[in-house]
Amino acid sequence: MQLPLNDADKALIRAMRDAHVLEDVDGHRLDPAGVIPVTCADGHRFRDIFDHIEQILSVHGNSAERCVHPLTRHGGPMRLVPKCPANKPGRSTAIDYQDEVLEACEIKNINTIALVNHALCGKACQCGISVVRSMTLMFEGKQLLKKRSQKITVACFQHVDWGDSKRTYFIRRERFLRWQVAGAQVLERLSGPPSQIAATL
Ligand SMILES: [Zn+2]
Repeated sequence: MQLPLNDADKALIRAMRDAHVLEDVDGHRLDPAGVIPVTCADGHRFRDIFDHIEQILSVHGNSAERCVHPLTRHGGPMRLVPKCPANKPGRSTAIDYQDEVLEACEIKNINTIALVNHALCGKACQCGISVVRSMTLMFEGKQLLKKRSQKITVACFQHVDWGDSKRTYFIRRERFLRWQVAGAQVLERLSGPPSQIAATL
Protein backbone atom coordinates (compact mmCIF):
# COMPACT_ATOMS: atom_id res chain seq x y z
CA MET A 1 0.00 0.00 0.00
CA GLN A 2 1.24 3.49 -0.84
CA LEU A 3 0.36 6.20 1.63
CA PRO A 4 -1.21 9.21 -0.09
CA LEU A 5 -0.48 12.78 0.96
CA ASN A 6 -3.51 14.36 2.57
CA ASP A 7 -4.74 17.80 1.48
CA ALA A 8 -3.07 19.56 4.43
CA ASP A 9 0.30 17.99 3.66
CA LYS A 10 -0.05 18.90 -0.02
CA ALA A 11 -0.88 22.51 0.86
CA LEU A 12 2.07 22.65 3.21
CA ILE A 13 4.50 21.33 0.60
CA ARG A 14 3.10 23.67 -2.06
CA ALA A 15 3.62 26.60 0.34
CA MET A 16 7.22 25.49 0.78
CA ARG A 17 7.64 25.29 -2.99
CA ASP A 18 6.18 28.79 -3.41
CA ALA A 19 8.55 30.13 -0.75
CA HIS A 20 11.49 28.43 -2.53
CA VAL A 21 12.25 26.38 0.55
CA LEU A 22 11.94 23.37 -1.71
CA GLU A 23 13.91 23.94 -4.89
CA ASP A 24 14.27 22.01 -8.10
CA VAL A 25 17.42 19.98 -8.02
CA ASP A 26 18.79 21.23 -11.35
CA GLY A 27 22.09 22.95 -10.74
CA HIS A 28 22.77 21.32 -7.41
CA ARG A 29 25.31 18.87 -8.60
CA LEU A 30 26.62 16.08 -6.51
CA ASP A 31 30.16 14.75 -6.56
CA PRO A 32 30.69 12.95 -9.89
CA ALA A 33 32.60 10.20 -8.10
CA GLY A 34 29.45 9.05 -6.38
CA VAL A 35 27.16 9.56 -3.45
CA ILE A 36 25.88 7.78 -0.37
CA PRO A 37 22.07 8.22 -0.30
CA VAL A 38 20.51 7.85 3.15
CA THR A 39 16.84 7.22 2.63
CA CYS A 40 13.78 5.17 3.52
CA ALA A 41 13.49 1.60 2.30
CA ASP A 42 9.96 2.27 0.96
CA GLY A 43 9.83 0.01 -2.07
CA HIS A 44 7.18 2.12 -3.79
CA ARG A 45 9.40 5.19 -3.74
CA PHE A 46 12.99 3.94 -3.53
CA ARG A 47 13.43 3.35 -7.25
CA ASP A 48 12.35 6.91 -8.06
CA ILE A 49 14.71 8.32 -5.42
CA PHE A 50 17.62 6.20 -6.67
CA ASP A 51 16.95 6.95 -10.34
CA HIS A 52 16.77 10.66 -9.64
CA ILE A 53 20.19 10.67 -7.99
CA GLU A 54 21.60 8.75 -10.95
CA GLN A 55 20.03 11.34 -13.23
CA ILE A 56 21.61 14.24 -11.33
CA LEU A 57 24.99 12.55 -11.53
CA SER A 58 24.58 11.90 -15.25
CA VAL A 59 25.35 15.58 -15.95
CA HIS A 60 28.95 14.55 -15.38
CA GLY A 61 28.68 11.95 -18.14
CA ASN A 62 28.62 8.22 -17.80
CA SER A 63 31.33 6.64 -15.76
CA ALA A 64 31.80 3.02 -14.83
CA GLU A 65 33.64 4.23 -11.73
CA ARG A 66 30.68 6.16 -10.38
CA CYS A 67 29.00 4.63 -7.38
CA VAL A 68 25.62 5.28 -5.79
CA HIS A 69 25.72 3.39 -2.52
CA PRO A 70 22.43 3.69 -0.63
CA LEU A 71 21.89 2.94 3.05
CA THR A 72 18.23 2.52 3.82
CA ARG A 73 16.16 2.28 6.96
CA HIS A 74 12.47 2.75 7.50
CA GLY A 75 12.07 6.52 7.80
CA GLY A 76 15.50 7.29 6.35
CA PRO A 77 17.52 10.27 7.61
CA MET A 78 15.40 10.83 10.73
CA ARG A 79 16.81 7.55 12.09
CA LEU A 80 20.25 9.20 12.41
CA VAL A 81 18.93 11.18 15.38
CA PRO A 82 18.92 9.39 18.76
CA LYS A 83 15.87 11.29 20.05
CA CYS A 84 13.80 10.55 16.92
CA PRO A 85 10.55 8.91 18.07
CA ALA A 86 11.07 6.22 15.41
CA ASN A 87 14.08 4.93 17.36
CA LYS A 88 13.27 2.76 20.36
CA PRO A 89 14.55 4.19 23.66
CA GLY A 90 17.72 2.61 24.99
CA ARG A 91 18.82 1.24 21.63
CA SER A 92 21.88 2.36 19.68
CA THR A 93 19.98 2.57 16.37
CA ALA A 94 20.94 6.16 15.53
CA ILE A 95 24.63 5.79 16.39
CA ASP A 96 24.80 2.49 14.49
CA TYR A 97 23.20 4.11 11.45
CA GLN A 98 25.63 7.05 11.64
CA ASP A 99 28.52 4.58 11.92
CA GLU A 100 27.33 2.72 8.85
CA VAL A 101 27.00 5.89 6.77
CA LEU A 102 30.50 7.07 7.69
CA GLU A 103 31.84 3.57 7.14
CA ALA A 104 30.30 3.60 3.64
CA CYS A 105 32.20 6.82 2.90
CA GLU A 106 35.45 5.13 3.87
CA ILE A 107 34.82 1.83 2.14
CA LYS A 108 33.66 3.40 -1.12
CA ASN A 109 35.97 6.43 -0.91
CA ILE A 110 33.01 8.77 -1.36
CA ASN A 111 32.64 11.94 0.70
CA THR A 112 29.24 13.13 -0.46
CA ILE A 113 26.14 12.05 1.43
CA ALA A 114 22.60 12.72 0.21
CA LEU A 115 20.00 12.69 2.96
CA VAL A 116 16.67 12.08 1.24
CA ASN A 117 13.57 12.51 3.37
CA HIS A 118 10.28 11.49 1.77
CA ALA A 119 6.58 12.24 2.05
CA LEU A 120 4.47 10.56 2.80
CA CYS A 121 6.50 8.10 4.81
CA GLY A 122 4.74 5.20 6.48
CA LYS A 123 7.28 4.99 9.28
CA ALA A 124 6.92 8.69 10.07
CA CYS A 125 3.14 8.32 10.14
CA GLN A 126 3.38 5.25 12.35
CA CYS A 127 5.42 7.29 14.85
CA GLY A 128 3.28 10.46 14.68
CA ILE A 129 6.03 12.47 12.96
CA SER A 130 4.69 15.26 10.73
CA VAL A 131 6.26 16.15 7.39
CA VAL A 132 7.86 19.30 8.84
CA ARG A 133 9.17 17.41 11.87
CA SER A 134 10.72 14.80 9.60
CA MET A 135 12.54 17.60 7.74
CA THR A 136 13.79 19.06 11.03
CA LEU A 137 15.06 15.64 12.07
CA MET A 138 16.85 15.27 8.74
CA PHE A 139 18.74 18.52 9.34
CA GLU A 140 19.60 17.37 12.85
CA GLY A 141 20.92 14.16 11.31
CA LYS A 142 23.08 16.23 8.96
CA GLN A 143 24.59 18.16 11.86
CA LEU A 144 25.34 14.96 13.77
CA LEU A 145 27.19 13.49 10.78
CA LYS A 146 29.10 16.72 10.16
CA LYS A 147 30.20 16.76 13.80
CA ARG A 148 31.75 13.35 13.37
CA SER A 149 33.57 13.98 10.11
CA GLN A 150 35.15 17.14 8.74
CA LYS A 151 35.68 15.80 5.25
CA ILE A 152 32.12 14.90 4.27
CA THR A 153 29.62 17.01 2.35
CA VAL A 154 25.98 16.44 3.25
CA ALA A 155 23.16 17.62 0.97
CA CYS A 156 19.49 17.36 1.96
CA PHE A 157 16.62 16.47 -0.35
CA GLN A 158 12.89 16.03 -0.01
CA HIS A 159 11.12 13.45 -2.13
CA VAL A 160 7.39 13.99 -2.61
CA ASP A 161 4.90 11.48 -3.96
CA TRP A 162 2.09 13.70 -5.23
CA GLY A 163 0.01 10.71 -6.26
CA ASP A 164 0.11 11.33 -10.00
CA SER A 165 3.81 12.17 -10.02
CA LYS A 166 6.94 11.93 -7.92
CA ARG A 167 9.48 14.73 -7.43
CA THR A 168 12.71 15.26 -5.54
CA TYR A 169 13.53 18.74 -4.24
CA PHE A 170 16.66 20.29 -2.80
CA ILE A 171 16.21 21.84 0.64
CA ARG A 172 18.59 24.14 2.50
CA ARG A 173 18.61 24.20 6.28
CA GLU A 174 18.99 27.98 6.66
CA ARG A 175 16.10 28.71 4.32
CA PHE A 176 13.94 26.07 5.99
CA LEU A 177 14.60 27.52 9.47
CA ARG A 178 13.88 31.10 8.32
CA TRP A 179 10.65 29.97 6.71
CA GLN A 180 9.61 28.12 9.85
CA VAL A 181 10.02 31.26 11.95
CA ALA A 182 8.34 33.58 9.45
CA GLY A 183 5.54 31.19 8.65
CA ALA A 184 4.85 29.77 12.10
CA GLN A 185 1.14 30.55 11.96
CA VAL A 186 0.75 29.20 8.46
CA LEU A 187 2.66 26.15 9.52
CA GLU A 188 0.40 25.54 12.47
CA ARG A 189 -2.64 25.82 10.23
CA LEU A 190 -1.26 23.57 7.53
CA SER A 191 0.83 20.95 9.29
CA GLY A 192 -2.00 19.35 11.29
CA PRO A 193 -1.87 15.77 12.44
CA PRO A 194 -0.04 13.27 10.26
CA SER A 195 -2.03 11.09 7.91
CA GLN A 196 -3.41 7.81 9.09
CA ILE A 197 -1.16 4.90 9.85
CA ALA A 198 -0.88 2.38 7.04
CA ALA A 199 -0.46 -1.33 7.41
CA THR A 200 2.80 -1.23 5.51
CA LEU A 201 5.52 1.25 4.68
ZN1 LIG B 1 9.24 5.84 4.33
